[in-house]
Amino acid sequence: MMDNYKKIINLLQKLTLDAMLISNGNNIRYISGFAGATGYLYISGNRHTLVTDFRYTIQAEHEAEGYEIITIGSGGYEEVLNDLIRTDKPMRLGFEAEDMLYSTYQNLKDKLAVEELVPIGNEITQLRRIKTAKELEYIKKAEKIGDQVFTEILDFIKPGMTELEIAAQIEFLLKMRGAEGLSFSSIVASGLNSSMPHAVPSRKRIEAGDFVTMDFGCVYEGYCSDMTRTIVIGKASERQREIYRVVLEAQTQALSFIKAGYRGSEVDRVARDIIYKAGFEGCFGHGLGHSVGLEVHENPRLNMSDESILLPGMIETVEPGIYIKGYGGVRIEDLVAVTEDGCENFTHSKKELIEL
Ligand code: ZN
Ligand code: ZN
Repeated sequence: MMDNYKKIINLLQKLTLDAMLISNGNNIRYISGFAGATGYLYISGNRHTLVTDFRYTIQAEHEAEGYEIITIGSGGYEEVLNDLIRTDKPMRLGFEAEDMLYSTYQNLKDKLAVEELVPIGNEITQLRRIKTAKELEYIKKAEKIGDQVFTEILDFIKPGMTELEIAAQIEFLLKMRGAEGLSFSSIVASGLNSSMPHAVPSRKRIEAGDFVTMDFGCVYEGYCSDMTRTIVIGKASERQREIYRVVLEAQTQALSFIKAGYRGSEVDRVARDIIYKAGFEGCFGHGLGHSVGLEVHENPRLNMSDESILLPGMIETVEPGIYIKGYGGVRIEDLVAVTEDGCENFTHSKKELIEL
């Protein structure tokens, strides 16, 4: 974790700051290892200090190896931060403008004995774009748990069950297989509901002839996974087969195209062209994919407007879909690590159309 501390020291120099006050929980975790819900990380050339409250002191001591841990007292964060600033004397103190509440900022500005509070943008989040070998390993493990659960859920699903029951079972199994949490609330969308990309599981019962889209992910050592499969209950109709075939073709082509050096928008275009040319223009209204890490939606994205150049070690989902109002929809999502000459696919669940 001290490697990431060095990245922050470099950033201080780049931004001509004397110190940085980091408030974004995922950034605090990325830099220090501390996964608790509240705290500040203060970093300067002289100090690397994690300030938290009593509920997290023991956890912080375990997780934030090499960091000075200070527990706030009755004077709250203000008192501890002021003590830090008085002894360390930073002239220019950076804070995360995209994370800090305006009210907190105002309070700090009024009460902290600092010369200049300097807003910083997404510079720390940017550091998280390229994953280390360890991070890739955690994401791979999380996705592997998802693959296992997908196999198991196929044996569980029966007509007459509700979407909520299936979602609950997915989430139960994810934790039984070692996940410490969910990347997001699992999506189980059947029949007409599958035409909504982010449908919320409901009391609707699964029936013969339904498409069932299951989109879920779990957390392993802080890192998220994300995958989607769509199946048909009973025998698929010709139209269902055709829609599925186009989505799978779009995904297959995008997966074989993606590699370091291309822009996110270029990969998106490969899948989008296939879907539009097959006559489904207007039925794929979201981007092709997103990065994943400590958060389930990270940058860079694979969409029409993201011009970021993909680099080895970046994670992307590849998730084309076709959604038809009043009919239903299909999405297929894999999670890949971008490499120099292609990608490594972390998702291994079968993609031929499954008829249950
Ligand atoms: Zn997903
Ligand atoms: Zn996704």
